[in-house]
Amino acid sequence: MLNKSQDLFYPTHVLRQVEKPAQYLGHEWNMIDKSELMDHRHVNMPVIRFGFCFPDIYEIGMSNMALRIIYNLLNSRADTWCERIFSPAGDMRQFMQQLDIPLVALESKTPLNQFDIVGFTLQYEMSFPTILDMLDLGNIPIYNSVRSNSDPLIVAGGPIVYNPEPLADYIDLFMIGDGEELLGELIDLYKTWDRKYESRESFLLRCTELEGIYVPCFYEPEYFPDGKFKQINKLHQAVPTIIKKRVIKDIDHIFFPTEPIVPNTQIVHDRAYLELFRGCPRGCRFCQAGMVYRPVRERTVDLLVEQAKHLIESTGYDELGLLSLSTGDYSELEQLGNRLLDYCAERNISLSLPSLRLDSFSFDLMAKAGKTRKSGLTFAPEAGSQRLRDIINKDICESDLLEAARIAFSGGWNRLKFYFMLGLPFENADDVYSIPELAKKVLQVYYDLPSEQKNRKPQLTISTSFFIPKAWTPFQWCSQIDQVQMLEKRKILIENLRLRVINYQWHEPDLSVAQGIIARGDRKIGKVIEEVWRNGGWLESWNDFFDYERWKNAMRKYGLSIDFYTSRQRSSDEIFPWDHISPGVSKEFLWSEYLKAETGELTAECRKQCHNCGVLQFNTGLCVSHDK
Ligand code: SF4
Repeated sequence: MLNKSQDLFYPTHVLRQVEKPAQYLGHEWNMIDKSELMDHRHVNMPVIRFGFCFPDIYEIGMSNMALRIIYNLLNSRADTWCERIFSPAGDMRQFMQQLDIPLVALESKTPLNQFDIVGFTLQYEMSFPTILDMLDLGNIPIYNSVRSNSDPLIVAGGPIVYNPEPLADYIDLFMIGDGEELLGELIDLYKTWDRKYESRESFLLRCTELEGIYVPCFYEPEYFPDGKFKQINKLHQAVPTIIKKRVIKDIDHIFFPTEPIVPNTQIVHDRAYLELFRGCPRGCRFCQAGMVYRPVRERTVDLLVEQAKHLIESTGYDELGLLSLSTGDYSELEQLGNRLLDYCAERNISLSLPSLRLDSFSFDLMAKAGKTRKSGLTFAPEAGSQRLRDIINKDICESDLLEAARIAFSGGWNRLKFYFMLGLPFENADDVYSIPELAKKVLQVYYDLPSEQKNRKPQLTISTSFFIPKAWTPFQWCSQIDQVQMLEKRKILIENLRLRVINYQWHEPDLSVAQGIIARGDRKIGKVIEEVWRNGGWLESWNDFFDYERWKNAMRKYGLSIDFYTSRQRSSDEIFPWDHISPGVSKEFLWSEYLKAETGELTAECRKQCHNCGVLQFNTGLCVSHDK
């Protein structure tokens, strides 16, 4: 007999009609079911129900590393049951609205509004309307100001939490920085909240005592008459003026999920993952993750190999991915690679090496990886010309790139993918033309190989996105190009990449502009996001659902200028809506990096030299080894 949490929940006729019904059923391998604990919980031993919400559909969310970490981390606590909630796809959402079916968790099918804490991960800006949609589908008031003690606590964290202001009216509290320790502290604090006797406001005020917690209702933004941000005013004396991010100091001794859930249906990245390190030593000037995840903290090889074995044994995956911001920069990559390859080769497991940097491409590893099955290789030179790569501080040269391509082709990798950005600061026409030129040089490398080294025909994918200036980067002051410029640049590439062996992929200009509005948005942009959602925009990160008219209309309705948020070049003394959220890097350091970009001056990576970016205060990782 099915128990409570094994019930299908959705009517059979609905499941028969929706695409990929398995995404709504749960019961995957390694899913954690604590329903028995719920049946026997005691008032003196409360079980905290945590709903982990991924604001996108199952196949995207289940590929996410944060979900795997938080899910297993929280469930390792005896007093907590963490369950997963994803946005429904369009067909299911329609049924839910027609039949009045609430949004529920996959594990127990509990409606969202019955959880104690509902946590959203903020992975990309265009998922913000989805957050409002999920709250609404879960029958939770979308505004934090009207929630009562009977509503769940709504929290959010993740890589783009460093400008939380666009969501300030909707989320109760933001968690800034690494979540592993902070989440535990929050749950411990939550257990002290007696909802019968203590108001929500009083509890939220107590939450601000935890370092890394930002409770937006205790802060009020003030603007200049021209709309620019003036300052954030504290509404309560006790709350911190600057909210400093949390940093895990000893990454070897924090929880890592070695028994992740294995989906029953196809997801985007369906493989086991190791996280080699946090942070990135490079300092690419466009990259928000590279700035906000500082400092670099590596896991040891022994631990990673053990984790890899456990992962493979517990999941049965035949592919192992190495995940980090720049995997090629792991200091012990050769040793780790050799040990993993020995293990993988015996079991016919494929080792996937994403985001390799061309300059740190490990020739030995490449050769040895050739013994396992060959997947495509991906590189991210980001800019086609050396001039522009220097401007963005991407310290790689063309000869590195071509040599890596030669090794790849002769080693049997025929599918190579290259990522570039269009519209980077200080970009000129030559920089744009240099992308197809570089692609053709890569192909020439293949044609120049001796025939015995040529394997299957080469397949090149050139993928471009449009640069979007992000908070807490050296380019946070920069102008974002508009759609007309985007289309011009894209046209150049379309015309110059017309070869059968080249597949050109691009991002939609309108979507990039909408994302740009949110990325450097202030609290006023929250109303725009809400308006977009109220007008049917609930899965705006998907091209199929995105509608730029909704964004234009919403901006117009609130008297806001798109150019003000996107293409306006900010002055050096501009105060930003995110200045009170500190990732550790100082604004002064970022500005000095911006000035260096103007002249194309490189900044050496952290392993070679410390530039006092501000992160030394955390007293850990690569920064400390410099200090010694
Ligand atoms: S303090 Fe120095 S070593 Fe540490 S992240 Fe900043 S620049 Fe790099």
